[in-house]
Amino acid sequence: MHQDYFPPGIVVLTGAGISKESGIDTFRDPDGLWNRVNLEDVATLEGWHRDKKKVLDFYNEARGLFRAAQVAPNAAHDALARLEAKYGGDVTIVTQNIDPLHEMAGSKNVLHMHGREGEIRCMKCSTVFPSDADLAIDSVCAKCGAVGELRPNIVWFGEQPMHLDEIYAALDKCGLFMAIGTSGQVYPAAGFVLHVRRRARVRTVELNLEPTENQTLFQDHIYGPATRIVPPYVERILAEGWKAGGW
Ligand code: NAD
Repeated sequence: MHQDYFPPGIVVLTGAGISKESGIDTFRDPDGLWNRVNLEDVATLEGWHRDKKKVLDFYNEARGLFRAAQVAPNAAHDALARLEAKYGGDVTIVTQNIDPLHEMAGSKNVLHMHGREGEIRCMKCSTVFPSDADLAIDSVCAKCGAVGELRPNIVWFGEQPMHLDEIYAALDKCGLFMAIGTSGQVYPAAGFVLHVRRRARVRTVELNLEPTENQTLFQDHIYGPATRIVPPYVERILAEGWKAGGW
């Protein structure tokens, strides 16, 4: 059965909170970019069809913020890269973030379930291109020539998240599930903890600034800023390793 994988895999779900101390606002920060707009205008397909310019301007601004902040990974991203490098089994980072900080820290096995910055997609021919350029409503697709059909390759509300097959495959054979810096309000990510808890001998831990609405679904809880709580937790896993029966 699943317990035969040894050492068992680790799945780390990350959210906006892990990048907060790198200078990127979370979804629910009162002054954050996301709170200055109506999400239905900029993060839904309906919003796109209503006003493409508004959507593109929003993501152009967000991209500009990433550049201006010259964001760098923090100690929590670094610790997860170290976990992947040193742990003997699979470590899969499933991130809801669109920023590139896990990769910048050196993590290799990263699934961006809500898409990622630095990629654009043509709504007409579905081609995905790497691009850091700002988009306008007259931008032209280099593949099919369509005008005004290029959008950020980011999953909007109501759209299917990416990499779900790979994510559920990793969840189905993990022995430890960590959720870091995520409020647990956006599905399906918020449901991953229940998915893994259907199996015996899976440890689940919430690492967050404060208890979330999902806290009772986790067996273990560690609260504080990610840069303070994630590195010692990772060191503990690396030092103690997997023992039959759990961590
Ligand atoms: P969220 O904003 O809903 O929740 C963030 C969580 O992080 C909160 O529970 C908060 O208590 C916690 N937090 C704040 N500062 C923290 C810190 N220093 N250390 C540890 N935890 C901290 O974010 P979410 O759950 O990721 O869901 C919102 C959606 O917003 C996601 O789909 C994501 O794609 C998107 N988003 C992405 C980014 C990014 O790419 N960096 C930024 C903002 C929003």
